Amino acid sequence: MTADAVIVGAGIAGASIAFHLTQAGAGRVLLLERESSQGKGSTGKSIGGVRAQFASEVNIRMSMYSIPVFAAFEEITGHESGYKPHGYLFCATTDRHLDYLKTNQARQHQLGLHAARMVSPADIAAMAPLLRADDIVGGSFCPTDGFVDPHSVMTGFTLRALDRGAELIRAAEVTGIAVANGRVQGVQTSAGLIATRVVVNACGAWAAQLAALAGATLPVEPLRRMLVPTEPYPGTEGLPMIVDMSTGFHFRPEGRGLLLAWNDPSETPGFKTAFVPEFIEKILTHAVDRVPGFIDLEVNPRRAWAGLYEMTPDHHAILGPAPEVEGLYYANGFSGHGVMHSPATGRILADLILTGSTSLIDANVLSVRRFSEGRAIDETAVL
Ligand SMILES: Cc1cc2nc3c(=O)[nH]c(=O)nc-3n(C[C@H](O)[C@H](O)[C@H](O)COP(=O)(O)OP(=O)(O)OC[C@H]3O[C@@H](n4cnc5c(N)ncnc54)[C@H](O)[C@@H]3O)c2cc1C
Repeated sequence: MTADAVIVGAGIAGASIAFHLTQAGAGRVLLLERESSQGKGSTGKSIGGVRAQFASEVNIRMSMYSIPVFAAFEEITGHESGYKPHGYLFCATTDRHLDYLKTNQARQHQLGLHAARMVSPADIAAMAPLLRADDIVGGSFCPTDGFVDPHSVMTGFTLRALDRGAELIRAAEVTGIAVANGRVQGVQTSAGLIATRVVVNACGAWAAQLAALAGATLPVEPLRRMLVPTEPYPGTEGLPMIVDMSTGFHFRPEGRGLLLAWNDPSETPGFKTAFVPEFIEKILTHAVDRVPGFIDLEVNPRRAWAGLYEMTPDHHAILGPAPEVEGLYYANGFSGHGVMHSPATGRILADLILTGSTSLIDANVLSVRRFSEGRAIDETAVL
């Protein structure tokens, strides 16, 4: 079998790359997934938040490209994204956090994101009356932020790519990458050998392992994140994603209940995907502190789950060619933002593979070379 491009990993990143490559007429595109169905990696575990309220220019740009794609997803792919523009509401309880939001927002405005605005404690109390607001000094809100259905987006990108001639092979694990004279020649899979000169690593939290098959080093580490859905809770339907900056606790409406999230700072890297029941008490402590009425919140521990973030040292994605191996490309290390940045990722990878450059971002900024060249990025707004 031969292909013009092989994408390894059919989560939301691989699906978007297949969509964008076929849109640009890239020839024979193969999407390989080791599981028997798509979405079993991080994509199926995500809370689906999308936001352009970031600190770094490159993240803001990637979101500003991606969010309009989610909004017009049905026209673009023929499938729904489940985009709900409820906004993200960041609540600060210290002047330091408020200054941080102001600085970020100045940058967002500079880049054309004029919908983002600062909000007063009174605005916050009016937007989310359930919050305890006595210590809130202000915040920021952007109404085009919100949430999507990650599974739906992944499926929409995939189906449209398949309509245009891409092929999806499930239960096909890549076990080897053939390299000769520093160039990719093909991939060995559990479904046979495929000759190709372009391999895209879209393996999520397992990306470093795939890179190692080609003799390349990729600084991507898995980190467990846990989510807790609640039973129905009244009065939360239209709420935005609310972020309590004092603890990092955040939540959003999901159906008639809520999805609660908090990044436990005691978590350590590793392929740990079991949900830890003790997490519920920890997260509910933060939840009740910010929303006193949550004392009545009902949670079924059996419905809670864990998944993996794919972390890089500077919490930014690694996109573009691998310096050691010609023909190997990275779409990795989203550090918790791979769903919201999936449209931009697909576009950037297709541009770089087919033309060697992209107008969407400065590709040099997200190149893996930044780590060896001392150009790691500063971005502290990681949820
Ligand atoms: C709890 C939680 C909450 C999150 N919340 C958000 C959020 O609000 N917003 C946001 O944008 N992001 C969020 N994320 C992050 C987001 O889910 C990921 O960044 C995104 O799904 C990454 O997509 P991916 O396609 O790169 O990886 P994945 O979805 O993990 O897909 C990688 C695929 O590669 C396959 N694979 C691996 N190795 C091989 C191999 N050797 N051969 C073949 N196939 C292989 C895997 O089986 C998998 O299907 C969250 C993640 C978690 C865990």
